[in-house]
Amino acid sequence: RTVYLNGQYVPETEAKVSVFDRGFLFADAVYEVVSVIDGKLIDFDGHVARLHRSMAELRMPQPPGREELLTMCRELAARNALTEGMIYFEVTRGNPGDRDFLFPSAELQPTIVGFTQNAPLVDRPQAESGVSVVTLPDRRWQMAHVKTTQLLYASLMKAEAKACGADDAWLVRDGFVTEGSSQNAHIVTKQGKLITHPLDSSILHGITQSAVLELARQGVVEVETRSFTVEEAKDAAEAMVTAASAFVLPVTRIDGVQLGDGTCGPITRKLRETYIEFARNSAI
Ligand code: PLP
Repeated sequence: RTVYLNGQYVPETEAKVSVFDRGFLFADAVYEVVSVIDGKLIDFDGHVARLHRSMAELRMPQPPGREELLTMCRELAARNALTEGMIYFEVTRGNPGDRDFLFPSAELQPTIVGFTQNAPLVDRPQAESGVSVVTLPDRRWQMAHVKTTQLLYASLMKAEAKACGADDAWLVRDGFVTEGSSQNAHIVTKQGKLITHPLDSSILHGITQSAVLELARQGVVEVETRSFTVEEAKDAAEAMVTAASAFVLPVTRIDGVQLGDGTCGPITRKLRETYIEFARNSAI
């Protein structure tokens, strides 16, 4: 693969980052994952805006501009012949040349890396069969709305879910589901309402969820923004996750409890189809 490192496109074996980079020593870094279909970028501007918000929250100066990031993403897609999959990019606070909790001020140059990942996004068996989740405690830090590379807890919970025979984990704080290990979580009640967690600091404000909820409100399903309990989720008619790497995928089993007939429900199917159509029409 050809990857991007600080303005250069280089073979992955030649991309080198210092051991003193704060991204490596402190997970002092933010990232984004942009999906690609038909060789084009989905919701690019939403991802750039969130990267800038994440950097501002962490007081990271010198955010890369939209045009620089757009060129990087397009070049990476072209050089790696990516037609469907993801582009990952990360900005670290940079390399101060030593290890110190205190970071130097504005003059530190951020480190910027980017790479592509091929993956089928539109045609996936899980879109029909659904995924299974287990609920596990949410012990992440309390700024989950910032998209940092501190992903160890989420990785551990995903591994724990796999060890339980499930596909993924839904995280629970004070009895309420916050979100998935790397997706936003939603349910559809038996009364036919889509319930989604409020946009506070306990969840990542998903770019996909924002688009999906807007499409949902345009006549697919009534949306209610509030947190829901594990019990309510197990009693739901449907459940789903949203993420750039998943679009919309049905959740058909929660802690071993099957939802509906155990396959994708009608509202989840409609939202997935509507989102894919929106993505195809608006990708740049
Ligand atoms: N929640 C978490 C914890 C995530 O890591 C992600 C990223 O994929 C999401 C939600 C979904 O966000 P987006 O739709 O912007 O990919």
